[in-house]
Amino acid sequence: MTEDVSGVLMEHQIIRDAVRRFAEQEVAPVSERLWEEQGFPYEIWKKAGELGFSGLPYDEQWGGGGGDWVAYSIVLEELARVDCAIANSLMANSTVASLLANFGTDEQKQRYLTPILNGSQIGAIGLSEPNAGSDAANIQTVAKRQGDSWVINGAKTFISNSGTDVTGPVVIAAVTGTRPDGRKQISNFIVPNGTPGFEYGRKLRKIGWRASSTYELSFQDCILPMDHLLGEQGGGLRQTLAQISTGRILIGSLALGILQGSLDRSVEYMKARQAFGRPISEFQALQFKVADMAVHTHAARLMLHDAAQKKDAGRPFANEASMAKLFATERAMEAAHQAVQIHGGYGIISEYPVARAFGDAKVLEIVEGTSEIQRMIIARELLLKD
Ligand SMILES: Cc1cc2nc3c(=O)[nH]c(=O)nc-3n(C[C@H](O)[C@H](O)[C@H](O)COP(=O)(O)OP(=O)(O)OC[C@H]3O[C@@H](n4cnc5c(N)ncnc54)[C@H](O)[C@@H]3O)c2cc1C
Repeated sequence: MTEDVSGVLMEHQIIRDAVRRFAEQEVAPVSERLWEEQGFPYEIWKKAGELGFSGLPYDEQWGGGGGDWVAYSIVLEELARVDCAIANSLMANSTVASLLANFGTDEQKQRYLTPILNGSQIGAIGLSEPNAGSDAANIQTVAKRQGDSWVINGAKTFISNSGTDVTGPVVIAAVTGTRPDGRKQISNFIVPNGTPGFEYGRKLRKIGWRASSTYELSFQDCILPMDHLLGEQGGGLRQTLAQISTGRILIGSLALGILQGSLDRSVEYMKARQAFGRPISEFQALQFKVADMAVHTHAARLMLHDAAQKKDAGRPFANEASMAKLFATERAMEAAHQAVQIHGGYGIISEYPVARAFGDAKVLEIVEGTSEIQRMIIARELLLKD
């Protein structure tokens, strides 16, 4: 691969340029309407699949692009710079793709992975429940063996990418027994959309990620054939843990998009807006805000690409991913807040992208492990490791 003088891979720059063009030309014009209507972007999802963005880091054998995770981080950053909800649809789809790619049989990959990589369907992951989010090992949905089937009963909530016309596989976690240490044994199951006994509850109305479809799910005597178990029985938490650090790089990349977007829009607005007979860019109080945003954007990108490069190289990256996720999401919230401040009253009006990004930034501090959970992980690494 070729590097330019600044060490940026030319391949990565080409991808960045392509996604930026797509985001500016296809996403930006419809972003406000999707935010208002809280509608899923069907056309954009289809095109992102056709252009190879959705499946970029996955194996070509299953319809992926065979790219690396730094490149995928760039895809998500560039989309989130314009619309974080749309970037999340790719991100949540990717968590399902990782589970299927790493633990599915060839038949499961053919049937469920390929359609969610090429954009003809979208995948959803159902771990969280009304009474179990951070404490994922405490889920209550159960799966019981009955002859040659599994019977699922329970409820899930906050599930991204569920309830759309293109939702395909929903991978859910359920309790399948008790482990020798007395804790719950958890397994993952592929539930195809439309399976009898699997119903959608409320569509959740949100302050962020509004164009990302989020529903409650319920399972009542939902019968699944045996081959819908993903990987081994009891492997559910291990499988989730194996992909969650990757998910943290991806959520951090969404935060990076918000950082860059807040910075770009603030600089542009400061040059154009006048107050007291001068452009507001001449006020040092505001100059310092964009200076901080630029520093945080650069630092977040370095941290995220470092974690992604380690993943690409097959080296341990979980701690780096937690640190990058924590840093990028908290700095994105701060930048989104200051971008609204710089825009004054206009920053509150939803036709301004900085207003819409404000709610999106808050979501990022909560999903894929809250900030508190990331600090627990980082502290554990510092204090409790031999
Ligand atoms: C828009 C959106 C989309 C989502 N999409 C999905 C999805 O597709 N699939 C899915 O499975 N889930 C999804 N989630 C759920 C998300 O993963 C959870 O909201 C998240 O894990 C936090 O869980 P919780 O909401 O139950 O909060 P809780 O776990 O109840 O936490 C409440 C508060 O307590 C704190 N806390 C909890 N435990 C500790 C502790 N030990 N020490 C210190 N503080 C603690 C938390 O940090 C938080 O501040 C989504 C959520 C949202 C908002």
